Amino acid sequence: MNQQHQDLIDRDRKVTFHASSHLRDFAHGNAPGRVITGGQGITIRDKDGREFIDGFAGLYCVNIGYGRTEVAEAIYQQALELSYYHTYVGHSNEPQIALSEKIIELAGPGMSKVYYGLGGSDANETQLKIVRYYNNVLGRPQKKKVISRQRGYHGSGLATGSLTGLKAFHDQFDLPLEGILHTEAPYYYHRGAEQQGMSEREFSAHCAARLEEMILAEGPDTVAAFIGEPVLGTGGIVPPPEGYWEAIQAVLNRYDILLIADEVVCGFGRIGADFGSHHYAIKPDLMTVAKGLTSAYQPLSGVIVGDRVWQVLEQGTGEYGPIGHGWTYSGHALGCAAALANLEIIAREKLTENAAETGAYLQRAMADAFGDHPIVGDVRGVGMLAALEFSANPEKREHFDPGLKVGARISAAALEENLIARAMPQGDILGFAPPLIATRDQVDEIVARTRRAVDRVTDELVREGAL
Ligand code: PMP
Repeated sequence: MNQQHQDLIDRDRKVTFHASSHLRDFAHGNAPGRVITGGQGITIRDKDGREFIDGFAGLYCVNIGYGRTEVAEAIYQQALELSYYHTYVGHSNEPQIALSEKIIELAGPGMSKVYYGLGGSDANETQLKIVRYYNNVLGRPQKKKVISRQRGYHGSGLATGSLTGLKAFHDQFDLPLEGILHTEAPYYYHRGAEQQGMSEREFSAHCAARLEEMILAEGPDTVAAFIGEPVLGTGGIVPPPEGYWEAIQAVLNRYDILLIADEVVCGFGRIGADFGSHHYAIKPDLMTVAKGLTSAYQPLSGVIVGDRVWQVLEQGTGEYGPIGHGWTYSGHALGCAAALANLEIIAREKLTENAAETGAYLQRAMADAFGDHPIVGDVRGVGMLAALEFSANPEKREHFDPGLKVGARISAAALEENLIARAMPQGDILGFAPPLIATRDQVDEIVARTRRAVDRVTDELVREGAL
């Protein structure tokens, strides 16, 4: 590492508190740092000038790739014109209006209004408030509980971290908050002993039955909403088993429970459709979008409200007056300008179609390279989302001893190959979500580097006697 890079990291250690990091180890120099200085296409560069293929598009968000001057230009022009004015009490800006029209058009029939925030967490916070307001307006003050799923990811605030169904997000902060529950994850590969031998469809029916049991146990008149990602993301990149969403929606309809589709990862092309909801025939009442909305050129998120919910929200005006909800930066003009330029690139370059086609190629290439690998238990994904799940004995789906940190070691080995592939937070799972501009040649390169990394760690495990 060159001296300049080292100096920057040393300064950073003294003053910055990093997300998802080991606080003491980083502050005291016992965990690595890295300063990223540039990006172009699907690669990023650090202060040493070392280049990495970003196989995770940042945090599955830089969908149009790095260094797009067209987006930078749109932000610059908007900043010259009007950088910001609030959007309270009917104030608007031109990019916000055009963007809302575009989002509603993409979201399809039944979707009615967009409310903006800055990131996925605050958007889901808005969702929770909408759900409460909706039931207050309807005179159902007891109908407030929200059901999420184990391994779901919906943010890291107090309420949204409660929706998230991952242990680390709960234990450290005394979560989940009351009224937020978690039902079984649609994780076919992990299905339990009593479910061995079930087909995917049977397993989906089982998940729906578990959800229904929970609703009945809580009392249907106390359950307001269900939230889910079309494809479980941070919880392991797990596409739903066949028939899952159909079975879940049948249960929700039976008990008048709103469905929130968290499209933060899937939205705007990631799995080869405009939305994950379109791909899986989900008919949500509310949708959450962020990440791919701007490809992270600016922070921006949105809550898309369906007609059925909007009709009720409107009625609240008589009783409550203006809604007591608003962020300073809702509908930020620079975010909306970036989103418009980003969506224009996605449409013009047919990136959603590329995510379907090159994504299918990615899935095949992963299956070819790892289908029979001695430490790979599952190769899964859809579109430009893929995962490898490692196993000490793939036939028996045995997990590795967590102390071996196999997932993290393989991610580190990939980094040695100048490839970023993400060790997912729960289990030995390596995740991929390349920018949607990736070509077949680039996919081949990602798979080849991954193969070298997985083989290297496999050899180490053999030497250590862990296999
Ligand atoms: N929902 C989903 C599905 C996500 O993947 C994420 C972030 N990974 C969020 C919500 C939270 O978004 P943010 O980190 O922007 O608050």
